[in-house]
Amino acid sequence: MKTRGKVKGIIANLVTIEVDGPVSQNEICFIDLGGTRLMAEVIKVTGSNAFVQVYESTRGLKVGDEAEFMGHMLEVTLGPGILSSNYDGLQNNLETMEGVFLKRGEYTLPLDLEKEWDFVPVAKTGDSVTAADWLGEVKEGWLPHKIMVPFTFKGEYTVKSVAAPGKYKVTDNIAVITDENGDDIKVTMMQKWPVKVAITAYNDKPRPFRIMETGVRTIDTFNPIAEGGTGFIPGPFGCGKTVLQHAISKQADADVIIVAACGERANEVVEIFTEFPELIDPRTGRKLMERTTIICNTSNMPVAAREASVYTAMTIGEYYRSMGLKVLLLADSTSRWAQALREMSNRMEELPGADAFPMDLPAIISSFYARAGIVNLVNGKTGSVTFIGTVSPAGGNLKEPVTESTKKAARCFYALSQNRADRKRYPAVDPLDSYSKYLEYPEIVEDLKKRFSEDWVEKVFKGKNIALRGKEAYDQINILGDDGVPVEYHTRYWKSELLDFIILQQDAYDKIDQSSPLERQKFMYNLVIDICEQNPEFESFEECANYYKKIINTMRQMNYSEYQSAAFNNYLEQLKNELGNGN
Ligand code: ADP
Ligand code: MG
Repeated sequence: MKTRGKVKGIIANLVTIEVDGPVSQNEICFIDLGGTRLMAEVIKVTGSNAFVQVYESTRGLKVGDEAEFMGHMLEVTLGPGILSSNYDGLQNNLETMEGVFLKRGEYTLPLDLEKEWDFVPVAKTGDSVTAADWLGEVKEGWLPHKIMVPFTFKGEYTVKSVAAPGKYKVTDNIAVITDENGDDIKVTMMQKWPVKVAITAYNDKPRPFRIMETGVRTIDTFNPIAEGGTGFIPGPFGCGKTVLQHAISKQADADVIIVAACGERANEVVEIFTEFPELIDPRTGRKLMERTTIICNTSNMPVAAREASVYTAMTIGEYYRSMGLKVLLLADSTSRWAQALREMSNRMEELPGADAFPMDLPAIISSFYARAGIVNLVNGKTGSVTFIGTVSPAGGNLKEPVTESTKKAARCFYALSQNRADRKRYPAVDPLDSYSKYLEYPEIVEDLKKRFSEDWVEKVFKGKNIALRGKEAYDQINILGDDGVPVEYHTRYWKSELLDFIILQQDAYDKIDQSSPLERQKFMYNLVIDICEQNPEFESFEECANYYKKIINTMRQMNYSEYQSAAFNNYLEQLKNELGNGN
């Protein structure tokens, strides 16, 4: 029997319901508003009062309206057909409705129940299996989508039968497995999982041990992110957070991309929907959308739906990770998520923490980031979820609670600077403030040595030093004037400019420059470091500036031309001549 209740009090989306039976924390309920069913989540229970957060506007709701409790938490439906779909935070399919916004009380099915999938069995009769073991496979776009033993299954099972190859719907039985008591259980291609609980049906989660190529130089060369790692991009409005995330999503070495557009402005979300479907996947030449899913919520959607969206996205990410795939999860912006948490906590009249965010904000953020990772699956293969979130600190203040808490949780920090953005130095990632903790992991250092060269990490720190010394020289020149400092200061400054223009800056809109494969990054970075290690004699600061400006111009042209093409080699020749003249 389901627990029922009656509305007793309403403050915006927070509704108090007097219940006639047991309810559990985070349980889902539906409140009946004259035939419209509003979905809500239990966020607090005291005695016979359940406090629920309604995922929709509560306009018109009255004391006495009836509610029904469902006996389960907010769940994600998992199965083939998620990729290339667009959902809201509650996994309503945004394609099956008109426009981007659902009417109140309207919920759509996340998966197409009529579509037939070409199923191929993977497991055989007699196999011993546990949760997340692969039973079969269908092709989702070009990706192999594994049909797994549901994550909720505990213990060992024996495969009794697996369906023959053929066309099946997501609700058809594709296997029968027998549990330890000898009972038969039918398995379909669809399963459900509560969004706020991590899927842990894997053997173990080692420390990240290899980097994930993103094609963005300031990341791969300067502050690499690990596969299964975490990073975040804080930056004031208009500094390029979204552009940087999109650049990463287009080129990263990932099989599946999940974009959680969390509480951004509605017009930005519309942009995602118009831009993404057009993008061509550089790896397959097919539509990028075939391996992408977008979970979106705009700031004008109710607060609890915004809060749910990052969890929905993470759960879908963990599902694909269990198939042995590399998942890249991008959330833009996690500040909106934190604001949703704040609104809810304030309405609950909880004691506020810093800036009125909930007291346990750091814990909520870290436990969310901890769900990312590379894992050893039950069948010995690996899968990963790499997570990159943006944070939009109010007024660009990096000391505010969301940025501070995220800094503790994420291993890579890509700080966007207003100053760089104003000077159109994109991506505006600040070379001095930003860091990657993965550069300290011995496993990652080994991986970098293998991919680049034995002395690579040393070179990366040389580069960071060049940026730092250049900044110091620049400040001195600003104070004392061009002639007030030794020419050597100009040399230092121009070396940092060379590094900035050739490595750190990258045009997200240029056909060639937008993606820099590792081999090309290695070549260009070695050149830059080689040039920086030379110390030609200059008579005057003008001579010094001219020397480096010429080099920068030539090398910029190289960035814009096909690697190792005739044009590229021309510029390289030209560069060699210029370097020769300077000495
Ligand atoms: P945010 O998400 O931080 O508010 P956006 O990502 O929307 O900012 O970027 C704002 C603008 O900055 C973009 O419309 C674009 O003109 C410019 N921009 C940002 N990054 C780049 C880049 N890598 N290359 C070229 N232009 C960029
Ligand atoms: Mg943005």
